[in-house]
Amino acid sequence: KGTLYVVATPIGNLRDLSFRALDVLAAVEVVAAEDTRVTARLLSHYNLSKRLVALHEHNERRATETVVGFLEAGKSVALVSDAGTPAISDPGAQLVAEARRRGYPVVPVPGANAALCALSAAGVGGGPFLFYGFLPSRPKARREALTALRELNFPIVFYEAPHRIVDSVRAIGETLGESRRITLAKELTKVHEAFVEGAPQDIVAWLETDPARQRGEFVIIVHARAPGDELAATFDATSLLAALIDELP
Ligand code: SAM
Repeated sequence: KGTLYVVATPIGNLRDLSFRALDVLAAVEVVAAEDTRVTARLLSHYNLSKRLVALHEHNERRATETVVGFLEAGKSVALVSDAGTPAISDPGAQLVAEARRRGYPVVPVPGANAALCALSAAGVGGGPFLFYGFLPSRPKARREALTALRELNFPIVFYEAPHRIVDSVRAIGETLGESRRITLAKELTKVHEAFVEGAPQDIVAWLETDPARQRGEFVIIVHARAPGDELAATFDATSLLAALIDELP
């Protein structure tokens, strides 16, 4: 039986590929890649040349069958995406589920991931957090998604595309509240890496000061509420009421 390796690749800095990832990429017979050109460049940087199969959001079902065919034939396959960890806001989840369902070994080869990279250096505490990934792109659906998160008092990690970054940060301020601080982690592991922290409207202002600031890749971290802020107070009133109601005859 072939093994499916789920291999993380760098999110910017090419040095962030692990020794083990290199070993696995060198050893497998086939690499299933989100964009074969991007992966061909990565492989050639390490003087590797492999049989590449495209597996992206538009062909994942068909490509899954192809890859399972390789596993069936006893060939090992590395699943990679353009950047970071496959199947995390990226193609590959269907393939992983199908390989497991059919009993093939699935082995993760961990490495870069933009969410954890941002979180590890944002200084928002080491406790629970929610990884959300991409918000819906339509304003109404985005607002609804954010509203559903209002009562969750954890740091929340979002991915966002450059052309929606301003709208999303603004929508976060409007739904989760201006008192909820934000850390924007931009261009992680790259030359122009930056962490910017402030209230949602400060972040919007920072982004709008110079359109160049809106280019690049972003992780948005919404901090947990500060003690004593508005919604927390609502919560206290609610639990106080609940406690009082319990006492009523
Ligand atoms: N699978 C990837 C991972 O493990 O992080 C995520 C892929 S997702 C399609 C791409 C999004 O991840 C970008 O829109 C951005 O929000 C975030 N991202 C990826 N690389 C980044 C970087 N170098 N700096 C900041 N954010 C990044």
